[in-house]
Amino acid sequence: PKTAYVRTKPHLNIGTMGHVDHGKTTLTAAITKVLSDRGTGTFVPFDRIDRAPEEAARGITINISHVEYETDTRHYAHVDMPGHADYIKNMVTGAAQLDGAILVVSALDGIMPQTAEHVLLARQVGVNHIVVALNKADAGDDELTDLVELEVRELLTEHGYGGDAAPVVRVSGLRALEGDPRWTGAVEALLDAIDTYVPMPVRYTDAPFLLPVENVLTITGRGTVVTGAVERGTVRVGDRVDVLGAGIETVVTGLETFGKPMESAEAGDNVALLLRGTQRDAVRRGHVVAAPGSVVPSRRFTAQVYVLSAREGGRTTPVTSGYRPQFYIRTADVVGDIDLGETAVARPGDTVTLTVELGRDVPLEAGLGFAIREGGRTVGAGTVTSLL
Ligand code: GDP
Ligand code: MG
Repeated sequence: PKTAYVRTKPHLNIGTMGHVDHGKTTLTAAITKVLSDRGTGTFVPFDRIDRAPEEAARGITINISHVEYETDTRHYAHVDMPGHADYIKNMVTGAAQLDGAILVVSALDGIMPQTAEHVLLARQVGVNHIVVALNKADAGDDELTDLVELEVRELLTEHGYGGDAAPVVRVSGLRALEGDPRWTGAVEALLDAIDTYVPMPVRYTDAPFLLPVENVLTITGRGTVVTGAVERGTVRVGDRVDVLGAGIETVVTGLETFGKPMESAEAGDNVALLLRGTQRDAVRRGHVVAAPGSVVPSRRFTAQVYVLSAREGGRTTPVTSGYRPQFYIRTADVVGDIDLGETAVARPGDTVTLTVELGRDVPLEAGLGFAIREGGRTVGAGTVTSLL
């Protein structure tokens, strides 16, 4: 039998972000190595974090690129998203629900386009705390690394993160993985910085249960499992739930976090939910599991939207009424019509109020964040202001 999950420490969700090849996955593996040496985690090698999604469909894993570990004071779920597109889908839409982020910047290369884009998008979706890992410090020279540090602090300040106060730790994921004490010490320092700098967020455990579905899996002999992070509320084995989008009402017959069974899951937990008598194809990413009757999906709302500038990877031309991009709302990806009303035109770099009519009903509420995408790039980020 599997060992049950015991909730002894506060749980937080964090993740690595930053430009491709700056060492996010190496650092993630190094963190698990350092903590397994300390006895509060299990070492997860690089190629188990960075593997292809198909291989992960087996077993009741939460997500291919999630690892868990504990420091002395906290339990963390850490997501290392494999590619840039995964950031857009998971982080930018809020699906990853990060309480804090580790911005990985190569000391050799400095800020690159995805470094800046991830910081911008983290701000848009309400990630309030960023700790910087200046990686590859083993290979860089000190003067250049000093310059990169200045540059990163400026980038953070530019996006409202208070770059002067943010912890910036020089690390080498690669050398720490090899067990070099100087660099395992640096990873320890990074973990201490995360423990102290990223505050424990408020969790709405008393609200009605809601979980946006990230993945759907079949566990042979057990049935259909959905995975994701609990956005709010609490769920117990035996609870009735609605699967919004699928039009199903069912019962949660099993709950796990990182392969460990649990009796109840609460806001902030990364979990797998086994659903009674549910067909695998009936449920999809983007659906929402919620306490029965607690949410009524809808499709028309007003929103405040920031249209990304061309420099931020956005459009070069203005948006007008009738524009029909994709809306990334929680884990859902839905087409929607934009009506700009009197404003008529929104230029790249503008913040505007507009009305949206989605192609289908999804659970919506004031304050909910979303991203707008078109042809594979992010062109806007917004917040729902009211439902119509
Ligand atoms: P990701 O794309 O950000 O996940 O980057 P990876 O973790 O896959 O690393 C990209 C490359 O940088 C690999 O060849 C790593 O071996 C190398 N690398 C990662 N961390 C370090 C480091 O601390 N020092 C050095 N010298 N190389 C590193
Ligand atoms: Mg990687």
